[in-house]
Amino acid sequence: MSKGTFSSASRRFGGRHAVVIGGSMAGMAASRALASHFERVTLIERDRLPEKPELRKGLPQEQQAHGILAKAVEILEGYFPGLWQQMVAAGSNVLDMSDVALYRGGIWQARATPGLTLYIQTRTLLDSVIRSRVREISNLQILDECEVVKPVVTSNRVAVWGVEVRRRKQEATEILEADLVVDATGRGSRMPRWLEELGLPRVEETHVRIDVGYASRKVRKLQGVTTNWKTLSIFPTAPRETRLGALAPVEGDTWLVTLAGALGDHAPGDEAGFLEFARALPQPHVYEMLRRCEPVSPVAAHKFPSSMRRHYERMTGIPEGLVVLGDAVCSLNPIYGQGMTLSVLAASLLEECLSEQAPRAMMGFGRRFQAKLSRMHDMPWTMGAGEDLVYPSVEGPRPLWWKAMQGASGHLQSLAAYDPVVTTAFAKVMHMTGSPLELAHPSMLLRMVRGPQGEGPGESPVMQFPEGSAPPSKTVASVA
Ligand SMILES: Cc1cc2nc3c(=O)[nH]c(=O)nc-3n(C[C@H](O)[C@H](O)[C@H](O)COP(=O)(O)OP(=O)(O)OC[C@H]3O[C@@H](n4cnc5c(N)ncnc54)[C@H](O)[C@@H]3O)c2cc1C
Repeated sequence: MSKGTFSSASRRFGGRHAVVIGGSMAGMAASRALASHFERVTLIERDRLPEKPELRKGLPQEQQAHGILAKAVEILEGYFPGLWQQMVAAGSNVLDMSDVALYRGGIWQARATPGLTLYIQTRTLLDSVIRSRVREISNLQILDECEVVKPVVTSNRVAVWGVEVRRRKQEATEILEADLVVDATGRGSRMPRWLEELGLPRVEETHVRIDVGYASRKVRKLQGVTTNWKTLSIFPTAPRETRLGALAPVEGDTWLVTLAGALGDHAPGDEAGFLEFARALPQPHVYEMLRRCEPVSPVAAHKFPSSMRRHYERMTGIPEGLVVLGDAVCSLNPIYGQGMTLSVLAASLLEECLSEQAPRAMMGFGRRFQAKLSRMHDMPWTMGAGEDLVYPSVEGPRPLWWKAMQGASGHLQSLAAYDPVVTTAFAKVMHMTGSPLELAHPSMLLRMVRGPQGEGPGESPVMQFPEGSAPPSKTVASVA
């Protein structure tokens, strides 16, 4: 395939060189967005970036389930036409929202009405295919096995003019000049420290300490099992429960079994503990599947201490030509599955802001971008971190409007057990293809007033095993 170039439909910023630090979802999406506006883009990643789907050190969370929301699917398809066809050819599974069995609020939800397409795969495959498309961008160069040591600023510290990098196995550093530097290095970003070294105050952070521990493993699908669903998730009912379990169909005819527990009730990284944790979920489906299927990967564990926001929008004096996005700015409790989508949305916002900027003039760009990015994060933060505050031990503000919102959301969730219209509306909001305001639409309020309609709560999903499907005999060593 020949290398692609892009001419954005909106006005081109016309910059010379942009550097993006970090080759994960936020970095790849930002690089693609910038390729429409800069003559050259360089994407710098510390890890070696493999050609094939392979685990890598800088993405330790990739062994856990990674759901990608419909909004990100839509934007990524616009960036890389044919991407999802390519994903399916590579092993991704295409589902409809109506194939999803969802246990939420202590009840099985009514199935959504068909119409929302979902793509399910491992994070490793997703990044690998997107990366293959990023490699095709003609004005983009990937510098992997290369670490950014720090951004380089003018002597008066008002603007960034490049980055200092060190290539693997080399002592010496070198400088790459750039008009724009994008930090997409994730939650562990060193930007707060780099800015402090320039004499700026520490960026303010907000944390909601949910203390989630994930563990996942792949198991081979058992032949002959009858189900009336294609993927299944059991969410904890806060505040009385903390445990989540999910079965997601991924490449190679396997299930990715993911368990997670909040408030320190972590899913264990050892085999026996993993199975026992699944057994204690409020519904039996994940455990029953897990105990019968042959494991094909070790159990991999990952801890997530808190949802976190860094408030760059509140800072003054950040050098011009520098922006921060992705998990480096907002890292939300993964059980809501929003991180990758927010990263892709940030790339779109970057493009939108560049189109509004006077050509080739970086002045004020970073400040405007961080302010808009923060506003974009407000709603997902309110919905995600807000849900976590239902646990009394989680610290954070609980104003009156939060109490009202939780009340309405709880009510809608119980209605969703009876009413496919409500489930579907919820699904669209969760997938960011529908506005949360749609949940406050008069027709929805009417449904709330009328109360549950229809047959009764959603039935427990069907899962029938073939006769004599015995527990597995083979085990695989665990890693934490
Ligand atoms: C357990 C878990 C489960 C999750 N599940 C979901 C989910 O279901 N759905 C979802 O949408 N999101 C999920 N997420 C969030 C998702 O993983 C992130 O939001 C997503 O990867 C985007 O992050 P990022 O690109 O900003 O940073 P990261 O993914 O953290 O990547 C940062 C990159 O920067 C590189 N890097 C760091 N420092 C340097 C440097 N100095 N120089 C060069 N390179 C550097 C790293 O090697 C890495 O490749 C989950 C997260 C966790 C922890």
